Formats: sequence, structure tokens, C-alpha cells
Amino acid sequence: MAEKVAQHTHCQICGKSIPVSETLCSEECKQRYQSLLKKRKLLVYLMYGSIFVVLLLFAMNILAY
Ligand SMILES: [Zn+2]
Repeated sequence: MAEKVAQHTHCQICGKSIPVSETLCSEECKQRYQSLLKKRKLLVYLMYGSIFVVLLLFAMNILAY
């Protein structure tokens, strides 16, 4: 049988094979990952913000009538 493939995972940015203990392959990918996380956080805040606005509009409608 073929020899066992050493346990590995893939870089979350570029998909290169890396040891299981790592999540990203290089400093460059780490930086890209960080900016991706920031963007994602911003999107989450935006989503919560718009939900809050919609709820506020509903509440104002209920109060107005
Ligand atoms: Zn990478």
C-alpha cells in the first residue's frame, strides 16, 4: 500500500499544505488573514447596525399607531 501521508492541513489563505500546528503558511498570508478578519468584523457590525435600525423603525411604527 502507499505510504501514509503525514498529517497536514491547508493554509486558509492560499491553500498550501502546512503542518497541523500551523493555520497559515507565511507572514504575508497572516497579514492577509488579519485584514480579512477586520473586514468580516466590519460586516458583522454593519449587519447588527441595520437590524437595529429596522427594529427601531418597527418600534416607531407601533408607537405611532
Ligand atoms: Zn498561504
